[in-house]
Amino acid sequence: MQSNALKRLLVIGMVILWNVLCPVWAQRTTSYTLVIHGGAGTITRANMSAEMERAYHQSLQRALDLGEKMLAGGLPALEVVEKVVRLLEDDSLFNAGKGAVLTNAGEHELDAAIMDGKNLGAGSVAGVKTIKNPISAARAVMEKTEHVMLSGSGAEAFARQIGLEMVPNSYFSTESRRRGLKRALEEEKKNTPNAPQPAAGISSVRVDWKYGTVGAVALDQQGNLAAATSTGGMTNKRYGRIGDAPLIGAGTYADSLVAVSCTGWGEFFIRMVMAKSLADRVRFGNQSLVKAGDELIQIALPALGGDGGLIAVDRNGEPIMPFCTEGMYRGYVRKEAGSDKVKRVVAIYKD
Ligand code: ASP
Repeated sequence: MQSNALKRLLVIGMVILWNVLCPVWAQRTTSYTLVIHGGAGTITRANMSAEMERAYHQSLQRALDLGEKMLAGGLPALEVVEKVVRLLEDDSLFNAGKGAVLTNAGEHELDAAIMDGKNLGAGSVAGVKTIKNPISAARAVMEKTEHVMLSGSGAEAFARQIGLEMVPNSYFSTESRRRGLKRALEEEKKNTPNAPQPAAGISSVRVDWKYGTVGAVALDQQGNLAAATSTGGMTNKRYGRIGDAPLIGAGTYADSLVAVSCTGWGEFFIRMVMAKSLADRVRFGNQSLVKAGDELIQIALPALGGDGGLIAVDRNGEPIMPFCTEGMYRGYVRKEAGSDKVKRVVAIYKD
């Protein structure tokens, strides 16, 4: 009788110990990283009000909150980068989804791409005008078609067909983007008074380019990587222009070692095949992620005449956020195995 009670007590004790130790053990062994950007450019303290700065910080923190919760809950990196980029697309502060910049024809043409490092699955849309969340359309291209990239009206017909939310093009407009286009067109006229209007000259395309593209890269608890990028492109871009963001390997890339999302003067990122170049330096060049990122962004990109930045994470959860502009909206959360702490960084300026 007495020994039966003792046995029962022992079993109960073991169950309690199991329930206490397991979560502690799981917590200690899990690791994940999420890195985000909200674009790079001429972002200085001098041209930023305290109120705007607070708003950007809040938006970046909100995106990290969402992603961290998903990663801590064990969700796959692909799901996390899509949902985080969706949130940033819905945030009118950033040049993606609502708040996207305008083309020289006064319209919004959006580009987005997503890539799953686990199996090199990829999807993208380019030049879309009425899909509320282009990043979700990009994911659907990857998962529901045999293609990687759909553009323009074909991409829109597909999005409508599978039931994604569609909006009028004016949904993406904000007062500040309209002002941005007006300034860019005036500037262009000043620089090239005889140029036919409103055709955009390549040099003036960059006017007001400072509020950017959004992107997210993540390493999940299963060790898989994913990348997502979404953008309205560059203010006053010639209509029909497609940037680096939706081009797999240029603005967006993920494999089993590295996930990358870029922001900057897209034409240069395309010519440098930036995201894949970074991944290849790590895979085949045996370079560290930090060195590869610095060499490409701080040396090779400016040497060619371009500028911008990128975010990346490797399979060890190491985050990098190099840029050669005055600022880049950026941040990351990182949980390392063997530690209970989650490191979080949010920053805007160079210093
Ligand atoms: N890379 C984007 C593009 O050229 C612009 C940006 O990053 O802000 O379309």
